[in-house]
Amino acid sequence: MPEQRSEWTFKGSPLNRTIADEVLKPKPLRGSHLEDILTRNNQKIDELRRRIPSFTCIVGCSDCCGPVTASSEEMARLPVRTQAEHDVALAELSCPHLGSHGCEVYNERPLICRLFGTTPRLLCPN
Ligand code: SF4
Repeated sequence: MPEQRSEWTFKGSPLNRTIADEVLKPKPLRGSHLEDILTRNNQKIDELRRRIPSFTCIVGCSDCCGPVTASSEEMARLPVRTQAEHDVALAELSCPHLGSHGCEVYNERPLICRLFGTTPRLLCPN
């Protein structure tokens, strides 16, 4: 096992701990800086939603549903599902927000779900 270094180095020379901590160590996002980023990302999501052509799915249709990836900000808009619910959905190549009557989070569904059916290469067959 390689030796773990406790000090930052620059070109092999030890750096002053305070300077290294200030300059090199990634800072956790917190406070107003984090809120600024979240606000900007949420505004971007809203802007992208507006740019996607309006499209209303047939109620109950889930042809395009499956495991989807979404940003943290989009996930934060959805009800929390347990890890077990995510695992079951993934094992069935489904989505934890898909219910017996279709998408249970339709108004807040992620961008990838909104795009399906709106682009020439992803046309809705229904
Ligand atoms: S979020 Fe809704 S539309 Fe998107 S995959 Fe899940 S159930 Fe389908």
